[in-house]
Amino acid sequence: MTVPAPLVASDLDRTLIYSAAALYLTGEDAAAPRLLCVEVYEGRPLSYLTETAAALLTELAERTTFVPATTRTREQYRRIHLPGPPPEFAVCANGGHLLVRGESDPDWQRTVAARLAARCAPLDEVRAHLVRTADPAWLRTARTAEDLFAYLVVERSLLPENWVKDLAAWAEPRGWTISLQGRKIYAVPQPLTKSAAVAEVARRTGATGILAAGDSLLDTDLLLAADRGWRPGHGELADTGWRAPHVTALRERGVAAGELIARAFLAGVTDPGRA
Ligand SMILES: [Mg+2]
Repeated sequence: MTVPAPLVASDLDRTLIYSAAALYLTGEDAAAPRLLCVEVYEGRPLSYLTETAAALLTELAERTTFVPATTRTREQYRRIHLPGPPPEFAVCANGGHLLVRGESDPDWQRTVAARLAARCAPLDEVRAHLVRTADPAWLRTARTAEDLFAYLVVERSLLPENWVKDLAAWAEPRGWTISLQGRKIYAVPQPLTKSAAVAEVARRTGATGILAAGDSLLDTDLLLAADRGWRPGHGELADTGWRAPHVTALRERGVAAGELIARAFLAGVTDPGRA
């Protein structure tokens, strides 16, 4: 890379890659875009992007530092094979792990552990509360991820309307954030953020700025820390009408929004003044 360019940091699920249920292909079948599968889970195709988005992301990754920034665990992230060269940096576990050429950076792990110990209630306390208050009628599974945060898989149609709101009110004073994404309810320590890990990448690479995209509450810090951002027309942020002056709220939903975001990233990197 000869010309300094902004670093691009993006959420993956429902921002750049989409499961079959999240594709939102509402037009004529005959006019649907061709899709590339980038993740297989238990022998079945799971996540897709359009072939056009794949070409855009390939060019993007060749031109600048492209940093996937996901809440996925390292194991879940390693199932994804994005087009283009393998990213030098990737953020997993919502900022808990900073992968450098595929390996979790031990210095970053220590930094995160110290911040969590100082600023929020322990995972065990939150997990115990989740298990105690969730109703087996709609709870499918309760999991912890990387010993950093917890999530529940639920039956959305049976989930009481106020349960997530009540949980968020309990969690907030304990230094935890609650995020509802599809069938998953995440409980994440407030100091565990994608933006903190991405700022560390920006520091190490000397990036001239940050472009970012995301669809959920767990992406707000990343979007706010960026110089420019994009969010799709679906998801938790769209549902709550979340906005910021430098964040473009796209109307497009599903995999088409992912393609637009990839296009906006590339424009922002190749011609920062016009993005
Ligand atoms: Mg997402």
